[in-house]
Amino acid sequence: TKWVYVFGDGRAEGSAGDKNLLGGKGANLAEMCSLGLPVPPGFTITTELCSHYYANGRTYPDDLKTQVEAALEEVGRVAGRRFGDADQPLLVSVRSGARASMPGMMDTVLNLGLNDATVEAIAAEAGDARFAYDSYRRFIQMYCNVVLGLDHDVFEEILEEEKARFGYEVDTEFSAEDWQSIIVLYKRRIETELGAPFPQDPHEQLWGAVGAVFSSWMNPRAVTYRRLHDIPESWGTAVNVQAMVFGNRGEDSATGVAFTRDPSTGEKALYGEFLVNAQGEDVVAGIRTPQNITEAARLAAGSDKPSLEKLMPEAFASFIQIADTLERHYRDMQDLEFTIERGKLWMLQTRSGKRTASAALKVAVDMANEGLITREEAVSRIDAASLDQLLHPTIDPSAPRDIIGMGLPASPGAATGEIVFSSEAAEEAKAEGRRVILVRVETSPEDIHGMHAAEGILTTRGGMTSHAAVVARGMGKPCVSGAGSLRVDHKKGVLLAMGQMLKAGDVITIDGSTGQVLKGSVPMLQPELSGDFSTIMGWADEARRMRVRANAETPADARTARSFGAEGIGLCRTEHMFFEDGRILAMREMIVADTESARRAALAKLLPMQRSDFAEIFEVMAGLPVTIRLLDPPLHEFLPKTEEEIAEVAEAMGVSADKLRQRTEALHEFNPMLGHRGCRLAISYPEIAEMQARAIFEAAADAAEKAGKPVVPEIMVPLVGISAELTFVKDRVDAVAKTVMEERGVTFDYLVGTMIELPRAALRADEIAAGAEFFSFGTNDLTQTTFGISRDDAASFLETYRARGIIEQDPFVSLDVDGVGELVRIASAKGRQARSEIKLGICGEHGGDPASIRFCESVGLDYVSCSPFRVPIARLAAAQAAI
Ligand code: ADP
Ligand code: MG
Ligand code: MG
Repeated sequence: TKWVYVFGDGRAEGSAGDKNLLGGKGANLAEMCSLGLPVPPGFTITTELCSHYYANGRTYPDDLKTQVEAALEEVGRVAGRRFGDADQPLLVSVRSGARASMPGMMDTVLNLGLNDATVEAIAAEAGDARFAYDSYRRFIQMYCNVVLGLDHDVFEEILEEEKARFGYEVDTEFSAEDWQSIIVLYKRRIETELGAPFPQDPHEQLWGAVGAVFSSWMNPRAVTYRRLHDIPESWGTAVNVQAMVFGNRGEDSATGVAFTRDPSTGEKALYGEFLVNAQGEDVVAGIRTPQNITEAARLAAGSDKPSLEKLMPEAFASFIQIADTLERHYRDMQDLEFTIERGKLWMLQTRSGKRTASAALKVAVDMANEGLITREEAVSRIDAASLDQLLHPTIDPSAPRDIIGMGLPASPGAATGEIVFSSEAAEEAKAEGRRVILVRVETSPEDIHGMHAAEGILTTRGGMTSHAAVVARGMGKPCVSGAGSLRVDHKKGVLLAMGQMLKAGDVITIDGSTGQVLKGSVPMLQPELSGDFSTIMGWADEARRMRVRANAETPADARTARSFGAEGIGLCRTEHMFFEDGRILAMREMIVADTESARRAALAKLLPMQRSDFAEIFEVMAGLPVTIRLLDPPLHEFLPKTEEEIAEVAEAMGVSADKLRQRTEALHEFNPMLGHRGCRLAISYPEIAEMQARAIFEAAADAAEKAGKPVVPEIMVPLVGISAELTFVKDRVDAVAKTVMEERGVTFDYLVGTMIELPRAALRADEIAAGAEFFSFGTNDLTQTTFGISRDDAASFLETYRARGIIEQDPFVSLDVDGVGELVRIASAKGRQARSEIKLGICGEHGGDPASIRFCESVGLDYVSCSPFRVPIARLAAAQAAI
């Protein structure tokens, strides 16, 4: 097997296409060599070797050693030196490099190959003993730390003592002799700490460093990073061994890092920093203040330290040219690392540069306009999920954060306000013009008005798809959910946070993008949608096949959705309408009514309210499709709970509180989410569905009379599992339509369809399609019912499942393509088989998740529907899925 790939001297055995085998760093070093750029020669040991190493009890294959020896020879030949040679020793760096860049894996070891003999040779060759001994001591420190696991402090201690003894302020004051004596102290200390002398044999050093890179693949930092970024364990890392060049050889040497464009704004201007007479990570380590590369950047920063452009004009000129070559070659903004040794420029790394969401938009649009990439490529390059950052206020990254708790980043954006513990208090405060954060253990549909009034929502229980999270995302309000380290003490009216006690009225800030809860108010940055944003959106719209709708239940939501480009409403939940102001009372009367006539009386009060809701929404949507779901939640949720509520309802109905209490007890359910809800309500009490259908049709008739554009309402029956359920409800709805048309003397079109949210519905979708003109996959409930997991309670153990590798993704966040997805595939196929023109869409939370949207495209759904603030993300993701 070929384990080792050499690069150098304008040639390379690998190329940029070999990232899987050579890691990102190795593949790009090879590519730069082949492009004829100045790259110190070296070789890469493959990621396959890493896999072999772990598969064989951390041992190497027999043929590795000879391959490494041969590669070292070749590198030495190109560099005009020999590894371990007493006259012209080759020194190397040993660098890790996985397929995806993984900060925090292993630190690089520089100057490897130095020992008591080679250091003399370097000193003589360079005519600079100070440089040689400085490099040697750096090597000893790095090697001991990275390979032998000795703490940095051990060396820092010695350095501090010596500085004090010589009366120096900074390291640079040490002379060659000082460093020599410090190295003696270092070596003595190493022997006492490790029980063995510092390895003098360069080959032993090399194998030590190589082993350390492979072992670092499994260090806890790397394991955590991979888990957070979904990088598979099986990928492995490569090792790069590369001839050293020295940025610490005097005032005509330097080391630096640069981006070909500004990574925070995307501006087309080289952006970077360097340090004179420095090595490796000194620039990022922040020991000295780095200098600007270009003169323009220096002026803009008002720095009085000379730019590279002024200081080393020749090296600067070749660097600018190389930066441009690399950007054109890779057709993307590059992140570069370089070193200048005695005026000569060397390239040490290139990769695609990380950038902010707004920089990504600008770079993509600019590059497409420059003709460097196509519009489709520009669309594909934007991380759809990152658009979220642009649509909400964010905490100023430079602001200090006083963190008092941590929860789930349930709904993005940040908000500041006074603590309130109830929805009533939130509304009162809002009426007085105060800004509040609603703090609850968890929320329920009754809190909708409080959530509306609040700037943000904080709950101490519940996951990413808890009520608070879903509703907050729908409203575009920041929310932190499940902040388990915080405790709400309702009795005392306080929030306990890390030993502190906060009362109602105290100001906190929540960051729904990170899950942080902060004390006090924090400066914010307001979202700014640039022209680049709409340009990319326009290109995305040209490329996508699926339509994008929004889940919206108020005219305000509908307006937001349209402003973000929604092409209809895919889910208008009607139950939220019943929690508003005076309506809940009429709703409760209706629920607890024990005769049909009493129920009809209460429904008659609700009818005009519902009708006006729909009328407004139809007006906003101006002829675009609107899917309205009939009442879905368990009646249980609407029951009066407190004695006060019971008394209020009893009075309104003219019955005794006792009688009402009995009735509420009778309606109590143990497992309401699997209880009397969905179409089951319409079957027990058809008059509810009839009232809703009437409200919808009357509003549609009104809209038809008023405006020219006809509304085609789509009536959606929830929680159907048996085709006869749908038929029963559809017959009632059709009858109402007929009556309204006769009464009003008009005709209008409408559709009746169903949600597919039970496994049985998916399996019998052909039968159901006979009575359904559309299916909308309600993947929140479908995930619950397929897994048998309650989404309100799952957060506590799903995290453990992830940590133990049992699941990779929270199925409520990203659709479980294998299981739930299989049901979607079956239902789509059977639905089309029974009714070829059936409309298929998705309206669960997954409709706004890019990975789930890709799945929807693969099944050929007609549209996705998501919360209004995710509409741009869905438009982009739908385009990417289609490209
Ligand atoms: P990371 O992946 O953390 O960026 P690198 O392997 O890129 O680590 O090494 C960090 C720095 O070490 C480089 O940016 C460069 O300054 C320095 N370095 C690495 N190899 C060499 C080399 N052969 N000659 C000179 N400097 C090097
Ligand atoms: Mg690097
Ligand atoms: Mg549902």
